[in-house]
Amino acid sequence: MIHLPLMKHLKLYFLILIATTLPGITLVFAQKETKAFYSKDDFYKVKKFDTHIHINTEQTAFIQLAKADNFQFLDIVDDRPFGLPMAEQQKIAFLHLKTYPEQMKVATTFPVKGFDDPDWAVLTINNLKNSIREGARTVKIWKNIGMDLRDKNGKFVMLDDPRLQPVFEFLVKNKIPLIGHNGEPRDCWLPLDQMTFSKEYYGSHPEYHMFLHPEYPSYEQHIAARDNLLKTYPDLKFVGAHLGSLEWSLDELAKRLDLFPNMRVDLSRITNLQLHTLRDHARTRSFFMKYQDRLIYGSDRAVNTTDDPEKLKKGIHEAWFRDWVFFTSADRITLPGFGDLIGLQLPVNVIDKIYYKNAENWLSESAGLKF
Ligand SMILES: [Zn+2]
Repeated sequence: MIHLPLMKHLKLYFLILIATTLPGITLVFAQKETKAFYSKDDFYKVKKFDTHIHINTEQTAFIQLAKADNFQFLDIVDDRPFGLPMAEQQKIAFLHLKTYPEQMKVATTFPVKGFDDPDWAVLTINNLKNSIREGARTVKIWKNIGMDLRDKNGKFVMLDDPRLQPVFEFLVKNKIPLIGHNGEPRDCWLPLDQMTFSKEYYGSHPEYHMFLHPEYPSYEQHIAARDNLLKTYPDLKFVGAHLGSLEWSLDELAKRLDLFPNMRVDLSRITNLQLHTLRDHARTRSFFMKYQDRLIYGSDRAVNTTDDPEKLKKGIHEAWFRDWVFFTSADRITLPGFGDLIGLQLPVNVIDKIYYKNAENWLSESAGLKF
């Protein structure tokens, strides 16, 4: 009688024998083991995660597209003073979550209304508990902190304000990650002719152009307040939206990633990343290699009731595909107004991390809450 482990060895021996005798089969094995980079076709095959999506409609065209393009996504609720109110965004998010639990996760938030009331923090924490019980995995804090909210004395409330601390302590204690959209791109504080990408937007929205409003906190004050928060709560799992608002300098971003081990950033300022690549390909690529566990794909796409479903699907699909080409291939890519660059062509294992595994790790950290 042949011993069982020996049987296994014999099987392996025969496999190798067949593989080496039949050239076709050898080729298949070799390809599978040595594939270094993904192709364009792999876009459809590889499991991906977009961690920055805003769904403002009960329509499901976007979700159908996400399925077809092999994307899961994080639907982020914001406390925005315009568009669909926060409560409505959240209702829609949980409605979709019930129907498509495999396709998506939800990031909740909290309103700043009544901030001066003594029980604001207690009420806010109770609301967060309810949202998390309902299925939210993470909490978003938006730029209204620092850019809009003022206390009863007219003073701007910054991210490191002591009155926000009970909320952060609750998040740390329960291991709930926080997404921070803090401040704006640095362009917002520069004169129009010194801006990189935002000239058109701020040119037509002078009310948001901080260069014209020196009474508002400076760019540096926003970044310092965020850094203070991370210093105060080293255990807070933090994801800086939009490259942590440090889109203009990979060196400045690297400094923070070195300083704060629990900080990650989403990549939803891709044109800035393309400009870094155009200016210094090797340096940008090595940034991605070094911080491959801390960078998370996100596109910051909004989906509204007024969108034409077919146009919406086409637009988002094309943008997703363009990003895939930039990260996975060495194709020539045109960055309008700046010139041509060569794609980053990151290795398969790095793409798997920034497109899926890092998001999965981040969002599974908040599982198993007990309260
Ligand atoms: Zn957003």
